[in-house]
Amino acid sequence: MEKSLFKKTIIFTLIVFFSCHNKEHNSEKIVDVNYEIIDSNINYPVFLQKLVKFYGKHFKVLDSNNIVWINGDTIELQTNPSKTSNELFNNPDIKDQFNTKYPTGKVIIPKDSCFDPGRIRNEDFFCRMYGYSKDEVYDNLDTLNWMGKQVIKVSKINGCIDSLKKINKEVMLLPDSIKEFLNPSAGCFNFRNIAGTERLSCHSFGIAIDINVKYSNYWRWNKGPYKYRNKIPYNIVEIFEKYGFIWGGNWYYYDTMHFEFRPELI
Ligand SMILES: [Zn+2]
Repeated sequence: MEKSLFKKTIIFTLIVFFSCHNKEHNSEKIVDVNYEIIDSNINYPVFLQKLVKFYGKHFKVLDSNNIVWINGDTIELQTNPSKTSNELFNNPDIKDQFNTKYPTGKVIIPKDSCFDPGRIRNEDFFCRMYGYSKDEVYDNLDTLNWMGKQVIKVSKINGCIDSLKKINKEVMLLPDSIKEFLNPSAGCFNFRNIAGTERLSCHSFGIAIDINVKYSNYWRWNKGPYKYRNKIPYNIVEIFEKYGFIWGGNWYYYDTMHFEFRPELI
């Protein structure tokens, strides 16, 4: 579809949708949504605003419960609103990804075993944007010189590498004692499943980075009963969050070296 026609299609759909559904859901506003058409006086669901803001270029149409992707496929945003926690992790809908609010801007110790903001991922949603196979994802990667010492591969899609470049620039200004936590990176692109699961890790899409493993804590490495552990200073987390990366240290099933590009959650 020609670019301006495509944009008009989304704009028109949003006007219709938001006009019809402005009483539903909560009313927090994201004022810098990229589409000039959105009436800032109308309340509309935050999760839809965020989908449009960060991923809208992949959609042809977005309505109350469907995304029509650029290739014409229609995917329901939510097929079943009452899933068990197992279903939420293993077979979530796109809307379920917004189930737990990510706690931006604060240090928390997750207490509830369901508190894993960002770990609910609809795999198909990510594959459609970043690639279904190792080769497909690879074609969308570019290189970044991490902290001036290490070449890593990161996805160009959705501005992920641009955000990581900004992070790279800012963390280089941190004192050496803190830089140590970031360098070397323990890995970025790696087409693989999450340990102990059949689900693709965000590393598969080139949108996640692990920092220095030496200072990391991972719940699976825990010996004995569950205990939350973290050594990563919050000023590192703050810089990543500023550019759309969530931190695995905010999860009950913590992975403190892990950061992934999920701007829709911040
Ligand atoms: Zn990781």
